[in-house]
Amino acid sequence: MSSFDEVKSPNSDYDDYITFLKRRIRQLELQIRTLEADKERLERELSHMRTEMSRLRQPPAFAGTVIELLEDDRAIVQNYNGPRFVVRIAPWIEREKLKPGSRVALDQRTMAVVELLPSDKDPSVLGFEVIERPQVTYSDIGGLEKQIQELREAVELPLKHPELFEKVGIEPPKGVLLYGPPGCGKTLMAKAVANHVNATFIRVVGSELVRKFIGEGARLVHELFELAREKAPTIVFIDEIDAVGAKRMDETTGGEREVNRTLMQLLAEMDGFDPSGNVKIIAATNRPDILDPALLRPGRFDRLIEVPLPDFTGRLEILKVHTRKMNLKGVDLRVVAEMTDGASGADLKAIATEAGMFAIRSRREYVTQEDFLKAIEKVFGSEQRLTQQIAMHEVMYG
Ligand code: ATP
Repeated sequence: MSSFDEVKSPNSDYDDYITFLKRRIRQLELQIRTLEADKERLERELSHMRTEMSRLRQPPAFAGTVIELLEDDRAIVQNYNGPRFVVRIAPWIEREKLKPGSRVALDQRTMAVVELLPSDKDPSVLGFEVIERPQVTYSDIGGLEKQIQELREAVELPLKHPELFEKVGIEPPKGVLLYGPPGCGKTLMAKAVANHVNATFIRVVGSELVRKFIGEGARLVHELFELAREKAPTIVFIDEIDAVGAKRMDETTGGEREVNRTLMQLLAEMDGFDPSGNVKIIAATNRPDILDPALLRPGRFDRLIEVPLPDFTGRLEILKVHTRKMNLKGVDLRVVAEMTDGASGADLKAIATEAGMFAIRSRREYVTQEDFLKAIEKVFGSEQRLTQQIAMHEVMYG
């Protein structure tokens, strides 16, 4: 029985029947509209699915990098480590967005640039260490007052008071090179400057640039500077710069060519940016003697700061920094500093930590001179390592 039969019989009042029919018509019209809307939606979904399917059936494209843009919608591209090709740029690509270094998709058959890919910006994937604002302050650095002063003049002053340089009519240094033996506070100094000027700290290790990302060193340098500009003010810290910036030799092997390309990109990036801008570069090396002179030219790393092994006063200051929070009893840090000639800042930190460990092992809550003596012995084994360290230092840094 239909719903109509339930409610009305054909014999009932005629007007009521008409009203009922009109309502029914309205209901049916509404139903038709809903069904039509549903049909439209399903048709849209179907066409979307069809496009998606044809997209998935497309052959894969090569990923590559634009090396140079040419006239007539052409470009030189490189499929990572492979050969370079002169190819066409598809008409739907926005030319202005395409730059040397852009990541693009290349058609498998014609190698034409068919898509502009987003730049690979995840800093951790790229091997960059990014700290929004490092916690290290100048008071965490022992000794090195002169070096800190120089670094502040070269990096902090132009960032905080650019007008001083304008008034005097000189350009602030673009890059600062810190050199000296390992573990003496180069990274620490760069972090402290970044903290003081409220800048982002980006650290990249030269040897990783060329080793971990074979064939991509130049692109990474480009990305590094892009990221630095994006996050400005920024301190870019290039550790072990000698890995990319060693004196150029004859390009006999692919590896050397790769290192040279990375260095060239670094020099090009440095030449291309404004020294009064808010991106500053600090590089560090243990081997200043092997650096390519091109790196040290004015307008590049033109401020050299030596960060040497600490002397007696330096060692005492470093020990003070690292024992600041320690509960010491009868410890004469001067004696410890006296006994550790040739030790680096990192060694002294290790000695302080070891001394603390000896106290914990003896279930004491305070650290004694005895703990320090044992720690020195543990860290250096014998006097021999210290003597070797001093001799090495003399040979390399004079
Ligand atoms: P590398 O050449 O190996 O990169 P580096 O000179 O950059 O070495 P840092 O990373 O700055 O050395 O130092 C390593 C650690 O040693 C620091 O985290 C710090 O704990 C300690 N240290 C080094 N120098 C000092 C210093 N002058 N004052 C306080 N701590 C120091």
